[in-house]
Amino acid sequence: MTRHTDVVVVGGGQAGLAAGYHLRRQGLDFVVLDADPAPGGSWQYMWDSLRLFSPAEHSSLPGRLMPAQPGGTCPGAGHVVAYLSDYEKRYGLPVQHGTRVDAVRRDGGGLVTETDDGTWRARAVISTTGTWSRPFVPAVPGRGLFTGRQLHTVNYRCPADFAGPGDLPAGDRRSVIVVGGGNSGAQIAADLALDGNAEVTWVTRRPPRFLPDDIDGRALFDVATARRRALEQGDGDTGGVASLGDIVAVPPVRAARDAGRLSAKPMFARLTATGARWADGSHIRADAIVWCTGFRPALAHLAPLGLRGPRGHIATDGTRALGEPRLHLLGYGDWTGPASATLIGVGRPARDAARDIARLLGD
Ligand code: FAD
Repeated sequence: MTRHTDVVVVGGGQAGLAAGYHLRRQGLDFVVLDADPAPGGSWQYMWDSLRLFSPAEHSSLPGRLMPAQPGGTCPGAGHVVAYLSDYEKRYGLPVQHGTRVDAVRRDGGGLVTETDDGTWRARAVISTTGTWSRPFVPAVPGRGLFTGRQLHTVNYRCPADFAGPGDLPAGDRRSVIVVGGGNSGAQIAADLALDGNAEVTWVTRRPPRFLPDDIDGRALFDVATARRRALEQGDGDTGGVASLGDIVAVPPVRAARDAGRLSAKPMFARLTATGARWADGSHIRADAIVWCTGFRPALAHLAPLGLRGPRGHIATDGTRALGEPRLHLLGYGDWTGPASATLIGVGRPARDAARDIARLLGD
């Protein structure tokens, strides 16, 4: 059976909800198709101790302020899941959970979206599938030889998963190598180091760049906004958030760093069966390696449109795909709008995408 609507939104995380909010304001008919059985997008799967890098009031989607989390300024992932669930209900957004989109194809004047629960025909599609389902691990010599456990940020939950049996002496404790110089690497290394049950070695490709302690996600958003304005006014690129540093010193990261438990080693040269070896010949035994090495955009469902460009991205003007004006992309990263992959930053590109689609459909 084929169903019809103006716009299909693929993905019901924060970007999909922000798109829904603005499509509603434009008076368009739409549906949000989300593979997950429950609301919350990827926040449902993040590790137990994760803290947002901004206070709640600076982590809001359009229309509704995120309430403060009792007892803390930077909320945890569970608080975000509760906020997104409430947001979906509050605005009565038509989200069909548990529906996976397999393909989007051109068909006459519209786009056909094929799912595991039938087909939708629409005049435009907004893709908001995020990156969580495409964890990236770099090709490192010897990776296949390592006999210990290898996991990615997406599989990490808590330090208890790495605790050895009982109170082991320091030399016998589990040894975990955490790879990655971004926020995930720093937070997970800090989580393990503060817990103290495992020996932690934090490895980064270049020396970690902490933001000044008094800077949090608010400043990052200000920088992204200044960059967007400068680009819009033709004043040149002022540099994105990366110009400030890579790691927000959220309280646990600061605590581990100040206790001297968060110093990074340079990247190892190769993995061995039992651990990692550096270029100078030194070797560290490891029971597990946690790859906090980022993500790629989840765009397989768009393959039939033949739009894939360099680095797996799709070329866009703002959020609109250059090769297909009926397709918009939202979230993913700065290439779909400054700070588009953050809670507070996705509102503006979502508004622009909805306006653009309303214009297109009105023509
Ligand atoms: P997601 O949340 O991943 O949602 C995508 C949705 O699409 C999912 O529900 C999924 O089921 C669905 N989907 C995927 N493929 C399909 C398909 N084929 N068919 C149907 N549905 C599909 N941002 C902040 O603002 N503050 C922070 O402090 C912060 N901390 C972060 C910490 C970490 C460790 C990470 C990874 C990110 C953090 N971010 C933070 C960034 C950002 O807010 C998240 O990446 C955000 O979850 C992206 O939202 P999204 O809606 O684009 O994607």
